[in-house]
Amino acid sequence: MNSNSNLSYLPENTLKGLKFADSRWQALRNNKLTPPTVITQSQETLNEFDADIIICGGTLGILIATTLQKKGYRIILIEKGKLKGREQEWNISRQELNTFVELDVLSDKELEQAIATEYNPARVSFHKGYELWVQDVLNIGVDPVFLLETLKQKFLEAGGNLLENTPFNSAIIYDNGVLVNAGDTVLKSRLLIDGMGHFSPIVQQARKGEKPDGICLVVGSCAKGYTNNDTGDLIASFTPILNQCQYFWEAFPARDGRTTYLFTYVDTHPDRFSLEFFMEEYLRLLPEYQNIELNKLQFERFLFGFFPAYQNSPLKMPWNRILPIGDSAGGQSPVSFGGFGSMLRHLKRLTLGIDEALNLDILDQNSLSLLQPYQPNISVTWLFQKTMSVEVHQTVFPNQINDLMSGVFRVMDQLGDDVLKPFLQDVIQFPALMKTLPLVNPKLVLPILPKVGVKPLLDWTVHYFNLAIYSGLYPVGKWVKPLTNHLSPQQQYYYHRWLDSWKYGSGGDIN
Ligand SMILES: Cc1cc2nc3c(=O)[nH]c(=O)nc-3n(C[C@H](O)[C@H](O)[C@H](O)COP(=O)(O)OP(=O)(O)OC[C@H]3O[C@@H](n4cnc5c(N)ncnc54)[C@H](O)[C@@H]3O)c2cc1C
Repeated sequence: MNSNSNLSYLPENTLKGLKFADSRWQALRNNKLTPPTVITQSQETLNEFDADIIICGGTLGILIATTLQKKGYRIILIEKGKLKGREQEWNISRQELNTFVELDVLSDKELEQAIATEYNPARVSFHKGYELWVQDVLNIGVDPVFLLETLKQKFLEAGGNLLENTPFNSAIIYDNGVLVNAGDTVLKSRLLIDGMGHFSPIVQQARKGEKPDGICLVVGSCAKGYTNNDTGDLIASFTPILNQCQYFWEAFPARDGRTTYLFTYVDTHPDRFSLEFFMEEYLRLLPEYQNIELNKLQFERFLFGFFPAYQNSPLKMPWNRILPIGDSAGGQSPVSFGGFGSMLRHLKRLTLGIDEALNLDILDQNSLSLLQPYQPNISVTWLFQKTMSVEVHQTVFPNQINDLMSGVFRVMDQLGDDVLKPFLQDVIQFPALMKTLPLVNPKLVLPILPKVGVKPLLDWTVHYFNLAIYSGLYPVGKWVKPLTNHLSPQQQYYYHRWLDSWKYGSGGDIN
């Protein structure tokens, strides 16, 4: 490292971690990640089970482990390290957070204790363009250390079995169950839940080395020394396109300082820059962004990551008896890196659905895939991801993305909170989209279309129509529900899953 490099602000271990993440990012760009074979199948049957469900991966795995253990299932949660939350808060909106209380997993008091920070208002702002302020959107910082420790205690008190320092190695799918090799142990259950994140070995095998269609790169820090500022930025930009991408910023008050992130949307072209370079860019531009010199800051920690997104999402597992959850399921949109929020939004639905599937013993791949269904309101956001990114060798007008974003947000702001707030929380609703699109200045949209390409536009049109259909089906489905009581329990299972997919797939879960 050059001694003048701002990377000297990073502690040695953090820099090592950054270089390790970079080696993975480089391997992914160059198609060098070989998918492992961790799942095999057997025609035989198992005769004794250690648990109903084995959950691999504890970070978000503990959420579903706790709700299902409380329902009386026997759960084994295996975690390769120690089950503990990271230092850095997760940002989320109040409605999603209340799920914990609704599911009786946390008391009101525990929920308040889990909240490390709460701020208002938040800004949306674009270079040479529009600026707006919103209240109560992603404005709560949850303390993952407290949250995961509290859930862990609840899980254990309810009789759950937690195996820490026990990495998942492999699994064999039998006709009636799953045999899991983890650490030095062999465990048997009826269902395996994969909560091992974006780079889960099970997901890598299922995706057969397929390259992601989009990546969100994120770098940032939490630091003390800023002048007091109780406001945040949900998305802000103050530069034109640089290095073939648009830099976006996020900032908010944190318990131990102020968190700032720099993020961007890119493809996996081998010439894309490294996370190390992006961290340099972050430190180069942070003084301008927050109006402070770097040497006035005391950095508490640095943060970085890259989030792969696949158009073929959520992932349908090619095996019976395996269900992905959290980041491994790929259920969130390609424009979001809010996987905790996304998991919470679906926690109730998943808990009830898994309960029903286990009760009825319908754990085949088709029945389970309905628990992670296609959601047109997420799929439409692929076009937005495309419009916010630039190809490696493409020439575009430098402020094109800022101008488009300004135009879209100006219209949404004028249409009001009903349109704006769900959008900012990664929930696209048909009425909001239908009202917004015709009002966006065509001069901003037309130059973007050739850049986006024909196929993404056609795909988007299909998702857009599906979004309209789902938005219509959901109220009808709710109305018909009482008439479905005469259906067999299996038929009801399918009906409930369809109803859920219409509800969540049309953004009907947020009001
Ligand atoms: C910089 C940054 C900021 C973020 N900010 C937010 C935010 O503000 N709001 C929000 O909602 N989300 C945020 N996220 C996203 C959020 O952190 C993730 O969506 C969430 O951590 C996903 O959890 P997961 O359990 O699915 O996967 P992971 O976090 O990847 O966890 C996987 C778990 O599986 C375990 N594991 C892995 N391999 C094995 C194995 N072989 N055997 C057993 N266990 C294994 C790991 O130890 C880990 O516990 C942020 C992420 C980053 C990087």
